[in-house]
Amino acid sequence: MNYVFEPPAQASIPVAGEAASFPVRRIWCVGRNYAEHTREMGGDPSRDPPIFFSKPADAVTTERSLPFPLHTENLSHEVELVVAIGGTGVNVDPEDALALVYGYAVGLDMTRRDLQNIAKKAGQPWDLSKGFDQSCPITAIVPATKAGHPDKGRITLEVNGVLKQDGDLEDLIWSVPQIIAFLSTYVRLCPGDLIMTGTPSGVGPVKPGDTLHAECKGVGRLEVTYTGKTGD
Ligand code: MN
Repeated sequence: MNYVFEPPAQASIPVAGEAASFPVRRIWCVGRNYAEHTREMGGDPSRDPPIFFSKPADAVTTERSLPFPLHTENLSHEVELVVAIGGTGVNVDPEDALALVYGYAVGLDMTRRDLQNIAKKAGQPWDLSKGFDQSCPITAIVPATKAGHPDKGRITLEVNGVLKQDGDLEDLIWSVPQIIAFLSTYVRLCPGDLIMTGTPSGVGPVKPGDTLHAECKGVGRLEVTYTGKTGD
């Protein structure tokens, strides 16, 4: 195939213990999947169905020193378990869903909360508040063949060593198999898809110079520092 310019590099994530990397196809994100976080965002966890949005594949970054994004005064942290899909599935039965999983990582669904709040009020899309450049810092992927399928375990986020988010995977409203089954009724899940499974309560703002530590026991740990306001 000839292209009018060189195609962009394939977005990818290292795989723990492997020389080969995981090529990223799409990033699906679940909103409001921990009851306490749903309440802190003004929702009702007993009533609201899962909501999905997406980020571009090249939002993933393994850089650990990041420029502070432009156009926000309220960059918010959301630590999340990330599911890396390695199989193909449509209308997947929840009992069969884990067969599609290649592995797991810890990721940050970084959010320009001020822009998101404006978009919510106006009924506008979230792309610029959720899908900006480098909005998904992520650890290496741990293959499920080595780490299994975590359905419980502490998930935390610290800002400059102060604990801000402290949850457990067993508090997910929609489990990983349920998320895969639900999402696969809307799109054909394909190898390379990532699913960010939602964040526990305690989200809050990040300032230039802050260092974030995100961890999910048994999956991974991530350290990211935001530099000065140098733009996207
Ligand atoms: Mn999120």
